[in-house]
Amino acid sequence: MIDVAILGAGAAGLFAAKWLKSSCHIIEHNPTIGAKIAISGGGRCNVTNKELTPGCYNSSDLKKAWQILRRFDNRELLRWIRKNGCSPVIRKKNQYFCPKSAKELIELLRPPNASLSLCAKIEGVRKEDNFIITTSQGAIEAKAVLVATGGVSFKRVGASEIGFTIAKHFGHTIRPLRPALVGFTLQPQQFWFKELSGISMRARVKVGKREFYDDILFAHRGISGPAILNASLWWERGAIEIAFLDSLPKLLPHKIISTQLPLPKRFVKAFLKSIGVEDKKVSQLGAEELEKLRLLTSYSFAPSGTFGYERAEVTKGGVVLDELDENLQSRKTPGLFFAGEVVDMTGELGGYNFQWAFSSAFVAAKGIDEYLGNR
Ligand SMILES: Cc1cc2nc3c(=O)[nH]c(=O)nc-3n(C[C@H](O)[C@H](O)[C@H](O)COP(=O)(O)OP(=O)(O)OC[C@H]3O[C@@H](n4cnc5c(N)ncnc54)[C@H](O)[C@@H]3O)c2cc1C
Repeated sequence: MIDVAILGAGAAGLFAAKWLKSSCHIIEHNPTIGAKIAISGGGRCNVTNKELTPGCYNSSDLKKAWQILRRFDNRELLRWIRKNGCSPVIRKKNQYFCPKSAKELIELLRPPNASLSLCAKIEGVRKEDNFIITTSQGAIEAKAVLVATGGVSFKRVGASEIGFTIAKHFGHTIRPLRPALVGFTLQPQQFWFKELSGISMRARVKVGKREFYDDILFAHRGISGPAILNASLWWERGAIEIAFLDSLPKLLPHKIISTQLPLPKRFVKAFLKSIGVEDKKVSQLGAEELEKLRLLTSYSFAPSGTFGYERAEVTKGGVVLDELDENLQSRKTPGLFFAGEVVDMTGELGGYNFQWAFSSAFVAAKGIDEYLGNR
């Protein structure tokens, strides 16, 4: 029997193993560790952000999640990474990336072979005197369990529902799961976006009270790009608004519209067609047509949905924090802990999700040692 079974060799599971004083064994169904880390941040892993604020996270219990995150924040994380020989660099805005490749971080997180089972699919967990974890390679008995199996997005790199199934088995409530950090699909009124596939431009995207000024990308299936991905974290249903321009420039009467707007010409032509306005000299526009041009500063539409879990960087929702203690231990079953994306705490783009995975793993590891009396 082992002290701790860690379910999942992703960011949270691997990091928890680094901090545990108790003996642990990691169970992973992929043939390699950290498969999502490897593909993250365009292969360089955006590990955290210089500006960590609760406003960048979505959770049904943000206050508690934030308290947990603060126990091992971005400074602590960067200190640990640097101490172990890697120096993340700021590339975009305030985002810290691995200097060369995400593999550098994976190597820092690599556990000894003896404490890892690869190609072992976790099938379930039950509680007898101890926890019994059933896997495709047989059963494992442990005094404590850390569920770090992530969300359900990107199944092609190993994501599965197992963490939520285990949580439900032990009576936990799951805040409904949704794909997030993902592009939007369109209603027929916006099918004109599809003609613009490949065009990327700056825009202001508003969803509820939140606003994201960043690139949007017209795609074959709909609309994507960083501003849209961030908006998707906050979108439930209903309309979002895009300001393609903050304000309309002064238009010269004798010149054609599409030559005067500081936007890609292909976009302007498709936009004009969609609102039924001909691309002509401004002097030839009627008052109603001129008014319609204002839609460029506030174009409202309701997405028909999202590109789904296959394309979503994260899964929003998860095991609710209300039923976990301050160390992420189940209030229903002592010895059962949760960390990472399986918990109801999801960040915007910018390294916030790895930060949560690492912070929550640290806190859970400390809690497990305390539970097992190995402080
Ligand atoms: C394309 C992409 C890019 C991203 N880029 C960034 C980024 O740059 N910065 C950022 O902050 N976030 C990024 N994210 C999000 C980030 O990867 C996740 O939030 C983070 O990996 C969550 O860590 P985790 O340990 O909770 O889960 P995961 O890293 O998903 O780890 C869970 C592990 O459990 C294993 N597992 C699942 N089910 C089973 C089972 N039944 N049996 C055995 N093993 C199982 C999985 O194979 C996996 O190894 C990105 C996500 C994607 C998809």
